[in-house]
Amino acid sequence: MVKVLGRDEPLLRKIAVEVPVKEIQTAKIRKIIADMKRALTREPDGVAIAAPQIDVPLRIFVVSGKMLRSNHKAYVGRDIVVINPKITKLSKEKKYMEEGCLSVRYLYGKVKRSSKIQIEGYDEKGKFFKRGASGLLAQVFQHETDHLEGILFTDKAKDVQEIPPEVWEQELGRKDWPSK
Ligand code: ZN
Repeated sequence: MVKVLGRDEPLLRKIAVEVPVKEIQTAKIRKIIADMKRALTREPDGVAIAAPQIDVPLRIFVVSGKMLRSNHKAYVGRDIVVINPKITKLSKEKKYMEEGCLSVRYLYGKVKRSSKIQIEGYDEKGKFFKRGASGLLAQVFQHETDHLEGILFTDKAKDVQEIPPEVWEQELGRKDWPSK
């Protein structure tokens, strides 16, 4: 079973390496993406995951379409895979947003994120794409891109508090605190 690395693992602090575009459709990369999706599905509050979180130092992340659809207005419908992502624009307008991370259990805090961004990268078929994002999706893209640079949200967060899952589920409701 694929394990999600915890915050003290040195690999989470490494800068991940780009995937050569012609290797995107190889069995090796497909398996990594499948493993990431599987690991994400196992986490009830998981909204996205980056490859380093499953011990793979490559520039890939997956955003769960299911979570976005069920809990948030940012309808996506299917998982978004981004390989070699580059955020090309970040809005000057920033907001503190609640954040959690599958690798930093069970801390939550507020991180200042751009409200709108533009991102480009390759999908799982090796096709180049550019897109915009706002709100939760923009936040998720920034959080995941940080993972590829060895940055954890707790490096930037304020008002960090520990909330055990039982408390968090009861008092806050999962939907406001998706982890990434
Ligand atoms: Zn994370």
